[in-house]
Amino acid sequence: MSVPAVRGDLLTGAEVLREVSTDRSGWPATAPGGVVRPRSVAEVQGFLSWASRTGTAVVTRGAGSGLAAGAVGVAGAVVLDLSGFDRILEIDADEQLARVEPGVITAELDAAASAHSLMYAPDPGSVGISTIGGNIATNAGGLRGAKYGVTRDHVLALDVVLADGTLIRVGRDTIKGVAGYDLVGLFTGSEGTLGAIVGATLRLIPRPLRTSTAAAFFADIGSAAGAVTAITRSGARPAVLEILDGPTLSAIDALEGTAFRTRGEALLVIQTDGFGAAEELDVVATAIAPHVAHIELAADAAEAERLLFARRRALPALEAIGRPLIEDIAVPRRRLAEAIERIAAIGAEEGVRIFVFGHAGDGNLHPIIVTDRGATDDPAPAEALAAADRIFALALELGGTITAEHGVGRLKRAWAERELGPEVHLLQRRLKALFDPLGILNPGSSV
Ligand SMILES: Cc1cc2nc3c(=O)[nH]c(=O)nc-3n(C[C@H](O)[C@H](O)[C@H](O)COP(=O)(O)OP(=O)(O)OC[C@H]3O[C@@H](n4cnc5c(N)ncnc54)[C@H](O)[C@@H]3O)c2cc1C
Repeated sequence: MSVPAVRGDLLTGAEVLREVSTDRSGWPATAPGGVVRPRSVAEVQGFLSWASRTGTAVVTRGAGSGLAAGAVGVAGAVVLDLSGFDRILEIDADEQLARVEPGVITAELDAAASAHSLMYAPDPGSVGISTIGGNIATNAGGLRGAKYGVTRDHVLALDVVLADGTLIRVGRDTIKGVAGYDLVGLFTGSEGTLGAIVGATLRLIPRPLRTSTAAAFFADIGSAAGAVTAITRSGARPAVLEILDGPTLSAIDALEGTAFRTRGEALLVIQTDGFGAAEELDVVATAIAPHVAHIELAADAAEAERLLFARRRALPALEAIGRPLIEDIAVPRRRLAEAIERIAAIGAEEGVRIFVFGHAGDGNLHPIIVTDRGATDDPAPAEALAAADRIFALALELGGTITAEHGVGRLKRAWAERELGPEVHLLQRRLKALFDPLGILNPGSSV
């Protein structure tokens, strides 16, 4: 296979192929046909035009931190690695927006915005490793989602190379604008199946000058879920509202040397922000008083950051103790307690360990089924898959979704149609065919 007009051409070394053979979902590794690492939009265009002419499958990839097996370099495909496409082209402080290439690491954009007293609000737990392109392609959520929403709420315009190599720009660099269909919304969350995102204009917001952060410990996870409902009713709107169950706290303690589990069987990490941050946290504390066992206020920004860092280590902590099958459901927030209780019952009935943490403010739970580590290319054990299946069914039964932020990828493909229904699923397949008539972009993934 020879790929024209791409710097470095087709990389096929064993080490390079291994790097892109899977993502963080635990999907069994496969070996793609090769990897290309372009450094200009023209090179991406040349490559995709060649892929269309030759009918070559393409998997676009950012950092590979995805949890849905969406960026997996499947056999026969060429991986279009855009992680080196990593320049912040402009921070426009007056217009409060940023123009970036897709390989920029999410935390680096936020740090650059911070120098202008601005903030890039979406902050997935993987903020230090994931790319903006991957965040847009998965419509990533994050810890601040309780107040600031998901990636889609912060994307103004996109430069996209279509499957045939055509470069298009969708959206605009103004805060408002409604001419035509919302193609920014369509590409955001399209998981590399409609085009390769090669540039983005992103919205920045004023960085809150004040934050107040608390760790609220509970006697059990059901009480923590009850507290989330009380917070929602209180009129307060925390920026961060994260839930972790006792077993997850133990895993974090083991990895990080912290002592969360000695303080309770469940934890809510709560952060309010803005000019009234302290007053708002008082409102939260009053609202959860009937539920909470023990509440600790972070003394300063460094302590707050340590608490958020510990939360971000939840998944690595579970990866350290076994093989995780990572789920990502959302339910109406008032049904969080019921969802958590029934997930525990599923774990007991299927004989698997299920850890639960998530973005409680969004009703988003990550039930993580951890089994003993097998060979990485083994499929997940049958009992783990059976439990996952029942968790998806539960999410739909409770009026929720099978994936709140990680995406469908290859992992949840069988379930996407069930959630969407046959008519909408067909419509989505037709949309895909319109943008990618030969079906070369990320085949086998998403809808
Ligand atoms: C510890 C940990 C914590 C996490 N926490 C969160 C969280 O809080 N919230 C959350 O939403 N996710 C979370 N994730 C999942 C993951 O980080 C996100 O899905 C992230 O958006 C993926 O970015 P990436 O650059 O790694 O993309 P990849 O994994 O490389 O790709 C993900 C998908 O996007 C597509 N893609 C990537 N770049 C492009 C592009 N330029 N153009 C078109 N398609 C593209 C790929 O084809 C694939 O389908 C977490 C992951 C880890 C490991």
